[in-house]
Amino acid sequence: MIPEEVIEQVREAADLVGIIGEHVELKRTGADYRGPCPFHGGTHRNFAVIPKKGMFYCFVCHEAGDVYTFFMKKLGMDYPTAVREVARRVGITIPERTGPTGPDPREPLFAAVATAADWFARQLRESPEAEVARRYLESRRVTLEQAQIQGLGFGPRGSGFLDAMKGLALREEVLLEAGLIVKRDDGSKIPRFRGRLLFPIHDMRSRIVAFSGRILGEGEPKYLNSPETPIFHKGQLLYNLHVARHATRKAERAILVEGQFDVLRLSLAGFEEVVAPLGTGLTDDQAALLQRHTAHVVLLYDSDDAGLRATFRAGDVLLRHKLRVSVATLPEGEDPDTLVQNKGAAALEHALKDSVDVLERKIQILERKGFFGSLPGRRRALDRLLPTIRAAADPITRDLYVSRVAEVAGIRKDVLQREVDPKETVTVPYRPVPSLTVLPSNAEKSLVLLMMSGQPWLSKVTEAVDGEEFEFPVYRALFEALADDAPDRLDETAARAYESLQAEGLGNEPPDLMFERAVNWLEARRLDREITRKQQEIDLAPEADKARLTLEKRALANERNAKRPTWKVLESARRKGAPGS
Ligand SMILES: [Zn+2]
Repeated sequence: MIPEEVIEQVREAADLVGIIGEHVELKRTGADYRGPCPFHGGTHRNFAVIPKKGMFYCFVCHEAGDVYTFFMKKLGMDYPTAVREVARRVGITIPERTGPTGPDPREPLFAAVATAADWFARQLRESPEAEVARRYLESRRVTLEQAQIQGLGFGPRGSGFLDAMKGLALREEVLLEAGLIVKRDDGSKIPRFRGRLLFPIHDMRSRIVAFSGRILGEGEPKYLNSPETPIFHKGQLLYNLHVARHATRKAERAILVEGQFDVLRLSLAGFEEVVAPLGTGLTDDQAALLQRHTAHVVLLYDSDDAGLRATFRAGDVLLRHKLRVSVATLPEGEDPDTLVQNKGAAALEHALKDSVDVLERKIQILERKGFFGSLPGRRRALDRLLPTIRAAADPITRDLYVSRVAEVAGIRKDVLQREVDPKETVTVPYRPVPSLTVLPSNAEKSLVLLMMSGQPWLSKVTEAVDGEEFEFPVYRALFEALADDAPDRLDETAARAYESLQAEGLGNEPPDLMFERAVNWLEARRLDREITRKQQEIDLAPEADKARLTLEKRALANERNAKRPTWKVLESARRKGAPGS
């Protein structure tokens, strides 16, 4: 087998226009080249070569692919031969085959997904049922031609898909394994994507491996992805990275957006270095993947509360992988899609150029909300900034972050340094790692119940506490999902808990009392933990430091005691048998 890096290196080095130009008379039109299609033998210039994307596409027969596919389709070569042929032309030597090379056992899955992609794309162009999808694209000012180049498709309701695939001799087991159909309880099989606009998801070799389907009209979930399959691991791929990775080098940045439509809009506006996670939060694997292609990531998410939470979560993940992270802020009420539509690509480039460091952005927001105006506010601000400082794996970034936060919160840098990295003095973890052994707390449950009652409590709770303060994993998951308004993201356990809480309801207690008590309880718990930690630090500290540390501990105890009145109420509730600890 030819190593992946070599395949990539050859593809990047290949002169696509020159190679295809040997077979087709191409003329430049803007950034692309057009000519008569060599596949269906047309005479009009319906065949496009798009060097920026490293691909070709015919608007009549819809043949599409990269430089390798061109040789395979035009000259009937197999994949390794095509790679060798292109390599020869660009002057790269490929090591000779060593040992027997069997065919990839996943080949049938790639073939099934590719066949499905072609069929979905044809539905989008031709099927009467896809009119709703075509109208939707029109409403978002995406032309059918643009949609076709991006390989968009439509998955109809009904049995058309299954019949067509069977007609093409694709077996049901393969379709199931590729995640294209699902088996119902009664044993019958239906297409996974019904009534959805489909975005193909490519792997790093530009092969389609999965789809993300957007619902058209009412229904849940809004986006449905292919399941994990032998060829698709969504935590390890980024949407559009197969295109963006070439551009990130030139642009010296990657732009991370929330969804496929944002990618589409930015691509159409001429930004190629755009990627998106696949329907979930950014994973560590995805950050590691991104880190191989760029050193700087600009986060371009919605600026509402849910968008900001997602921004900072993704920011922390990226910082853990030593990436430089900045946040672009769009004008009030605009998302990337509307901004480009209303004000053009220049307005977006302006916002990207004005992006600020992720920690600085967090500080800006806390400042705007008045967190630094009071002592308890400063303490809470610090709690929100600490995870970002701790996430910074790059030592220089981390040191700069500590200096900056010490300055803005008005504390000594060495004190903050100890708080950031208690391991330097004691080995006690600052926060217990949430695990399934943690018992659910009444306070956490109250806060989730309040959020489920809608506004104003939803905002009040997300304002007052951070997801990290939830120790019980199920409640934390509920908190995150409610805060982001994405209940469809819940796993099975959390979804069941959601239903049972929904049935339970808020009860008779006045919500404001419930809120105050729960928030105080969480703060008291946090302070308790810090007091314990401080005591351990005192036990291990050299004599000279003990007096100062004892003073610090006393200050924490005073702070906690201020929560006492409510604290006692909870203690008595706990004695009555409520699961509170
Ligand atoms: Zn053609």
